[in-house]
Amino acid sequence: MKMSYPKYFISLAFVLLFGFKLTAQTKYYITAPRLFDGEIMHKDWALIIENNKIITVGPIQQINVPDGAIKVNYPNATIMPGLIEGHSHLMLYPYNITDWDTQVLKEADAYRTVRATVHAKNTLLAGFTTARDLGTEGAGYADVALKRAINEGIVIGPRLMVAGRAIVATGSYGPKGYDTDQEIMLGAEPADGNDLIRVVRDQIGKGADFIKVYADYRWGLNGDDRPSFTLDELKLINEVTRSSGRVMVCHAKSKEAIRRAVLAGAETIEHGDFIDLEIGKLMKEHNVTYMPTIAAVDVISQYRGWKKGVTDPPSNIINKRKSFKEAIASGVSIGMGGDVGVFPHGDNALEMELMVEYGLPIMDALKAATSVNARAFHLEGSLGNLKPGYIADVIVVDGDPSKNISDMKKVKFVMKEGVVYLSK
Ligand SMILES: [Zn+2]
Repeated sequence: MKMSYPKYFISLAFVLLFGFKLTAQTKYYITAPRLFDGEIMHKDWALIIENNKIITVGPIQQINVPDGAIKVNYPNATIMPGLIEGHSHLMLYPYNITDWDTQVLKEADAYRTVRATVHAKNTLLAGFTTARDLGTEGAGYADVALKRAINEGIVIGPRLMVAGRAIVATGSYGPKGYDTDQEIMLGAEPADGNDLIRVVRDQIGKGADFIKVYADYRWGLNGDDRPSFTLDELKLINEVTRSSGRVMVCHAKSKEAIRRAVLAGAETIEHGDFIDLEIGKLMKEHNVTYMPTIAAVDVISQYRGWKKGVTDPPSNIINKRKSFKEAIASGVSIGMGGDVGVFPHGDNALEMELMVEYGLPIMDALKAATSVNARAFHLEGSLGNLKPGYIADVIVVDGDPSKNISDMKKVKFVMKEGVVYLSK
């Protein structure tokens, strides 16, 4: 590289004074037969990236290749925004390898964190450049540390929004079934009544980006999902959370827990296995986004012996199908979050396949993992769409996912903030 001395010294001075990097501007000119911008599928569009920003998006004929741009072309492929995983647990791995109790109770946080660095890498390379992580399940604030290591470039992974420990009502959460003489470490932090104020603030202080609450759990007399917190408790959690500029999100399967969570101010409802038209409409009225986690229900049933496509589906699958259809009919905003960790990190797009299998129009599944999740997590304006000025999170998948949703698994190219992590 030729560089005249005065220019070099000026640059060096700027670096010393302002911390500017001594790198040339990097430009990319990316083309493919299709470009999904987060809302619409376009034919023969191109994308120009400069450093970490999207500069231009539009028809190939109208866009000149900028001088010095690195040309990236994929025939028979689709350019998309970097995907956003709405519900992950990077500290967990599939329960058919090691059951949840064992991971929570017997595995050291250090071991789980080391594993999580690989999970984070696999997530990014699967095209998910952003992920909201819904609790460490007994690994303390290891998610806060993982997020920091990713931000500092020590390990690679998606940009994270993390919950930390999450909050449960005393007596509701697991691991369960051990001698009651022992104090068993739980998968989340128990708190009740006014103590919720202290616990919310403590979790925020330790790095939680949002507060995750279990508004119900399977602790009914027959192991059915029953509300854990009262409406007033949820309102209190929400009030304390909101005043810090964060939001409350709720695990809620039963109709009553969803109702309380929505009325208390939850921004997203996780799982929602018993949604009906009425509760779906209430969620819609309150601008709540639904995270269905179909994949968790589907694969856990298979871990328990259901031979999908061979044996009759168990009742929880029949119920999940019904509830998802009613959610769609209610018009509630449906995001994408699979509860990945229950199934392998990197297989995140399984949730998108199942959303389509369970009745969601295919374009809505593409929007769910991009623009809908971006809005749900207040990232609109910078992520979830391919628009000028947005952060350069861009992926390319082989084929046409608007025709075959499984093409979401054929990831060829991953760029996060202008840095290429996968190119094949
Ligand atoms: Zn979860």
